[in-house]
Amino acid sequence: MSDQLLEIKDLHVNAGEKEILKGLNLNIKKGEVHVIMGPNGAGKSTLANVILNNPQYTKTSGSVEFEGENINNLSTDQIAKKGIFMSFQLPEEIPGISTMNFLKYAKNKVTEKPVKIFEFKDTVKKYSEELSMNPKLIERNLNVGFSGGEKKKNEILQMLVLNPKLAILDETDSGLDVDAIKTVSKGIEMFKNENNAVLIITHNTKILHSLKVDYVHVLVNGKIVKTGGQELASDIEENGYAQYK
Ligand code: ADP
Ligand code: MG
Repeated sequence: MSDQLLEIKDLHVNAGEKEILKGLNLNIKKGEVHVIMGPNGAGKSTLANVILNNPQYTKTSGSVEFEGENINNLSTDQIAKKGIFMSFQLPEEIPGISTMNFLKYAKNKVTEKPVKIFEFKDTVKKYSEELSMNPKLIERNLNVGFSGGEKKKNEILQMLVLNPKLAILDETDSGLDVDAIKTVSKGIEMFKNENNAVLIITHNTKILHSLKVDYVHVLVNGKIVKTGGQELASDIEENGYAQYK
């Protein structure tokens, strides 16, 4: 059994007529934490969305493989069932469904098994406590009236509950205060093990102060222009992205 989870080869992606990803390569193995950093508009969210095959984007060439299988043309729900999770940069407010019921429904769909309700509620409660979430939030409508920080923690709660093989976190750290960033890092630490992987997308380096990562990639203008370790983040912190243009 190979350790390879995600393999992206020479991926070119358009939104309408506009080319956004311009030959992107990325390999993620089990047990690894990767970070993609880059300036606004570089294509980071596009990359996350295109892995999950959001129909707004078209792959014009190249491939996305997951556990050795080409998933270019699978639907988003099929990809989720394979074990890829993505958190949203801007989580939607969904009136009419409580956070708990949403989680239960999502878990049900992804695993294709009925959820054992008492056990499940205990799990959700335990994780939400670890994330220092107000216990009332899980009974409230999904994200409705949640603060920015509460929405982001709720994304981490979903990751923990759904327990995917690959979690892609798009700017989960953005707009958070120092304590909330620490909580998000703690959630990532709790999640990660030798059989799964995390891809963190961010444009700032703060989260890397409280989280150890294996690889840092710099994404500029639709391509990964540099890959390194944690030290690359410190370099960006000091010198910015201008050096990569
Ligand atoms: P990042 O997340 O790195 O800030 P994005 O992936 O959101 O960047 O966007 C990259 C570029 O692609 C931007 O110029 C953005 O306006 C454009 N873009 C993203 N999504 C779409 C879309 N659905 N339609 C048209 N242009 C898009
Ligand atoms: Mg983005």
